[in-house]
Amino acid sequence: MRYSVFRILEQGLTGNRGWKPVWREPDPKPEYDILVIGGGGHGLSTAYYLATVHGQTNVAVLEKGWLGSGNVGRNTTIIRSNYLLPGNQPFYEFSMQLWEGLEQELNFNAMISQRGIINLFHSDAQRDAAVRRGNAMVLSGADAVILDQDVLRKKCPFLDFDNARFPVLGGLWQPRGGTARHDAVAWGYARGADRRGVDILQNCEVIGFDIRNGACHGVATTRGAIRAKKVAVCVAGSSGQVMELAGLRLPIESHVLQAFVSEGLKPVIPGVITYGAGHFYISQSDKGGLVFGGDIDGYNTYAQRGNLPVVENVCEGGMALMPMIGRARLLRMWGGVVDMSMDGSAFIDRTLIDGLFFNGGWCYGGFKATPASGYCYAHLIATGASHPVAAEMRLDRFASGALVDERGAGAQPNLH
Ligand SMILES: Cc1cc2nc3c(=O)[nH]c(=O)nc-3n(C[C@H](O)[C@H](O)[C@H](O)COP(=O)(O)OP(=O)(O)OC[C@H]3O[C@@H](n4cnc5c(N)ncnc54)[C@H](O)[C@@H]3O)c2cc1C
Repeated sequence: MRYSVFRILEQGLTGNRGWKPVWREPDPKPEYDILVIGGGGHGLSTAYYLATVHGQTNVAVLEKGWLGSGNVGRNTTIIRSNYLLPGNQPFYEFSMQLWEGLEQELNFNAMISQRGIINLFHSDAQRDAAVRRGNAMVLSGADAVILDQDVLRKKCPFLDFDNARFPVLGGLWQPRGGTARHDAVAWGYARGADRRGVDILQNCEVIGFDIRNGACHGVATTRGAIRAKKVAVCVAGSSGQVMELAGLRLPIESHVLQAFVSEGLKPVIPGVITYGAGHFYISQSDKGGLVFGGDIDGYNTYAQRGNLPVVENVCEGGMALMPMIGRARLLRMWGGVVDMSMDGSAFIDRTLIDGLFFNGGWCYGGFKATPASGYCYAHLIATGASHPVAAEMRLDRFASGALVDERGAGAQPNLH
């Protein structure tokens, strides 16, 4: 069923009784060409591009819960392509370009809003780093503008310019950055994949792999065994647990990241703003809630809830940057388990087991990667070769030393 203004009118005039379910609920078949494990944004976009770009429709997405129950429905919705390194920036700019045409392509409203992102700087050294990053962005085809303090004062008069411990000197602005409605992205990709024949199997947890003679032939699930020629794992915060079922250890730790939403306020935040002297970022949802977050909780966990020290730390960051936030009431907060890699960058790669592929290590920033991650993973699964923009996202980079360490923090996942 295509959505359009005429469809809304037609349905409105006929009692809204003709809307169809957004995707089917099929029973698992005994065998598929490709199984994608994980019905988050990345798994669903992988299935979508397998079908649309590579004509692979004998595909199933296996999701242990319901679509959107993982990080795709828990994140703070920021999309951007403002990385520095050649292993990352072209990939994220490719993702941004896919975002820009996504709603038309999917015929689904994902509330993509390119209202801009500003990374603030607070010292001369940070300004230099911002200029360098901006140049790297421009070289990859992205947009980047350095804002001085006067311009910033007009754009964001509520920032603490004059009395702050870390004075705001300016910012690196990416006007094309912004936000997207996170779970609508999952629903849009699910609908697009389903329409092309992909089976989306909810409440279907993978509990084992059928690995014989160094090759993967399928999986065991809570809904029975399913055979497949190729199996593609894409389970974000559960990466370590799932790959352990295949006997593989990953250069990834799982940590919890929390998100916070205030009561609804009149529009005040012009886009996304990130604090350069602490870890705090903020935007405002269409309903008016201030949506913000900060550091991960610094210990390993699979629990989808965080603890109070980080709540305090995030709120302190907000108060230091924009004291007016102290007047807003916190409405809700939650946690999601993020797959932190040792250098802070992701993996889209095959494994040592034939027919078994792995996508993960997205840390706290994989939502913006959703379109390109699915596109490049589908490319690898279908063609056997890495997509050029994802060529450095390899599992063997720790053996070869070719790390993609944006932050320069070393092998310290809780610092990336
Ligand atoms: C609080 C928070 C804020 C964030 N903010 C941002 C942001 O602003 N911008 C940004 O770019 N990124 C952000 N991220 C990161 C981003 O959300 C993730 O990197 C991204 O969503 C991960 O990919 P996914 O959508 O496929 O993950 P998920 O939605 O977690 O999908 C993985 C799926 O695998 C399923 N699964 C697990 N085990 C099994 C199994 N055994 N069998 C079957 N299925 C299984 C899970 O149920 C889950 O649905 C944030 C994350 C959090 C937690």
